Amino acid sequence: MLFEYRLETKKQHFYDITQEVRQALGESGVADGIAFVYCPHTTAGITINENADPDVVHDLLLALEKTYPERPEFRHSEGNSAAHLKASVIGSGVTIAINKGKLVLGTWQGIFFCEFDPPRSRKFYVQVMGA
Ligand code: ZN
Repeated sequence: MLFEYRLETKKQHFYDITQEVRQALGESGVADGIAFVYCPHTTAGITINENADPDVVHDLLLALEKTYPERPEFRHSEGNSAAHLKASVIGSGVTIAINKGKLVLGTWQGIFFCEFDPPRSRKFYVQVMGA
């Protein structure tokens, strides 16, 4: 079962979408299987990381900015090659196991939509599959 969500992004940020994924799982009625969370964009991604301390997201964004800055040698005329690069490094989707109707996530884990080229109208998908 495929669920589509929309997101209006205002800044370069990791947006916590864990509740949306839990909502999709609840609506699907699937008890055991997998959830695949996917982002159909070239300058955004999906990742799983800590959602307890917001400083973790701050530090990840800072490190990505320092590691993959915009460079004068880049040729892409849109001028957002750094955002494309970060999107490929993070990846466009994650898969989460479902057990007894719940996402199998660690205590500190959350699912994030990663925006690297704001502001944008974005969407992401949650595909829930029963075993
Ligand atoms: Zn581009």
